[in-house]
Amino acid sequence: MALFNFFSNDVAIDLGTANTLIWVKGKGIVLNEPSIVAFDRSDKHIIAIGHDAQQMIGKTHRDIKIIRPMKDGAIADFEIAEGMLRAFIRKVSMSWQPARRVVVCVPSGITEVEKRAVRDSCEHAGAKEVHLIAEPMASAIGIGLNVHEPVGNMIVDIGGGTTEIAVIALSGIVSDESIKIAGDEMTAAIVNYFRRQHNILIGERTAEQIKCSVGSAVSLKEELEIEVKGRDLLTGVPRMIEVTSADIRGALSESVQEIVNAVLRLLERTPPELAADIYDRGIMLSGGGALLKGLDERIREETKLPVHIAEDPLTAVVRGTGKVLENLSDYRSVLIKSTRY
Ligand code: ADP
Ligand code: MG
Repeated sequence: MALFNFFSNDVAIDLGTANTLIWVKGKGIVLNEPSIVAFDRSDKHIIAIGHDAQQMIGKTHRDIKIIRPMKDGAIADFEIAEGMLRAFIRKVSMSWQPARRVVVCVPSGITEVEKRAVRDSCEHAGAKEVHLIAEPMASAIGIGLNVHEPVGNMIVDIGGGTTEIAVIALSGIVSDESIKIAGDEMTAAIVNYFRRQHNILIGERTAEQIKCSVGSAVSLKEELEIEVKGRDLLTGVPRMIEVTSADIRGALSESVQEIVNAVLRLLERTPPELAADIYDRGIMLSGGGALLKGLDERIREETKLPVHIAEDPLTAVVRGTGKVLENLSDYRSVLIKSTRY
């Protein structure tokens, strides 16, 4: 076992705004936890990360703060983000040897300074060699597309903080769009809907559950009814109301439309030869947002193109990043070029 660990401490990381996943070379996915940190307000000492920190949401006292350091597809708090990344890496490094080589997938919209911060965090965690890869590229590889071919593929990755849309060909990103409308925005739209339409305040986790269970982007064959509990904003007392999946669809429609519009904008900017490839091959959806009921159908209707959902969309990115780690020599060309200063 010790010997095995010695050889398998290279890791691939999907540092997502909602979830962090880690792949260990030779083993596959070993960690899949929410990108959440609980820390002491006074000295920024990290108290819990991942699932443990998630359990504490809404139940902390005033000395503890809980944040999602990657919230909007950018690093909201460098120190905490670094602490989280180090803690996750430490959690999977069972041997005394720290991770030697690390491949990290980052949102394509992050700045040079943020890229530097991610590299530094991995180095501080003991990595000798750090490589970065853009999210849509990792997703395409995870889906199993041959990204080296002179053929265009369109990937739409809908995460928590951002929707990243890219056309990939010849190992590179030909064009891309990144918008800050994704899962979080949909969840927030549901919270707003209950506040505005029903004067009820519901928690973020409740809203997320509603989104995942009855949220949709097109009419359902059988519309669903759900009971929702929250705090009445007028009386202050807990109250329960009934709503339908059509109501929730209405709440989500603006976010869904923004994602569709971003896809249409990128299609408009796509060179004709690649557009022809996309016409034949269609659009691939990944990320947790791809699981929203009927989103594939909605994009199909609006683009008139074939739309496919990746197998296990929540792990496509880490599987792609893992594949790059396992076969680094074949994939050097897809990495983000490092800028030294
Ligand atoms: P990130 O890469 O930003 O960490 P993920 O790809 O892990 O994001 O996706 C997380 C998002 O997907 C969250 O906003 C979550 O609510 C959403 N999600 C997960 N399952 C579903 C579902 N069945 N329907 C709609 N949204 C979902
Ligand atoms: Mg992601």
